[in-house]
Amino acid sequence: MHGGSPASARLLGYGRQDVAEEDIAAVVEVLRGDYLTCGPATELFEESIRAATDACFATAVANGTAALHIACLAAGIGPGDEVIVSSITFAASANCVLYCGATPVFADIDPDTWNVSPASIREKVTCKTKAVIAVDFGGVPVDHDAIRAICDEFGLTFIEDAAHAIGTRGHGGAVGSIADITTFSFHPVKTVTTGEGGAVTTDDPDLARRIQLFAKHGITRDVAQMRCPDEGGWYYEQLELGYNYRISDIEAALGASQMRRLPEFSRRRRELVAYYDREFAGIPEVSFQLDPSPEETTRHLYVLRFDLEVLGVGRRFVFDALRAENIGVNVHYLPVYRLAPYAHVRHESRK
Ligand SMILES: *Cc1c(COP(=O)(O)O)cnc(C)c1O
Repeated sequence: MHGGSPASARLLGYGRQDVAEEDIAAVVEVLRGDYLTCGPATELFEESIRAATDACFATAVANGTAALHIACLAAGIGPGDEVIVSSITFAASANCVLYCGATPVFADIDPDTWNVSPASIREKVTCKTKAVIAVDFGGVPVDHDAIRAICDEFGLTFIEDAAHAIGTRGHGGAVGSIADITTFSFHPVKTVTTGEGGAVTTDDPDLARRIQLFAKHGITRDVAQMRCPDEGGWYYEQLELGYNYRISDIEAALGASQMRRLPEFSRRRRELVAYYDREFAGIPEVSFQLDPSPEETTRHLYVLRFDLEVLGVGRRFVFDALRAENIGVNVHYLPVYRLAPYAHVRHESRK
């Protein structure tokens, strides 16, 4: 800020895609082929997600926000329902609740892992609570066992927003096959990218059927699901007001190719996290996220928390100083309840 050359010659964004020649070749192959959407590349991508997450069902969709929206719809969330959501996350984790006309209720985070606190979730349960949306902050897995216990006790659907956590393993296995429904994002800042893209996984065949339906206009040609007698091959029914949340085969081909490289991405990210943890450990003015089992995590974000009181400066100063050094930091995140669409939402944490 006071002159001199910046620490990095070019702007280091907080996240960047890693696209290899093999990824490009996979996309070009689709462009030369017969199907730009609804073709074999989408099936291949979904198969690669099932393989990586151990989930029985995977539906690839247009983006991670669409994935969250249909997860909520599949869980039957609607007006009058409350859904408990992590308060420190990207807005999409809670926006999906508003899309369904339901009320998000924000739970506090754990001061060490920065993931949603199961004790806080428990405090927020009411007779209107229908589901929990737990976010694996930075890719560090939420406390699956504790959240599962609360969901089972009160009959709630456990939705995991794993936009940060493809490749992470939790207590019950790979993220994607632990919660009732898990959602992923493949935005270019995330570990695996399709440009824009997302996925929803589940082990439950009924939820999988509803997820498929809501992602594809609510229309089915599956005789088993129809309300009226089957009229033959031309016949279809619209069972729900669904959406067009499909991913294209162009994007899915990139995704399938990227998923093959996930082990390589995970390894590299673990190396970087270990390096940062080592380097920052001796600096009392900053603290970082604690991960109980880093060897099982594929990290998306590396977030530093500054002790601004000790530093004697504001957030703006730190941000401007790092940007002047070409370090493309961002704030992850403003608490969701402070954003304008949540002004009407009651939250005790502000009392
Ligand atoms: C990125 C992200 C999303 C949304 O994903 P898009 O693919 O950008 O729609 C949802 N939740 C969290 C926590 C995210 O970081």
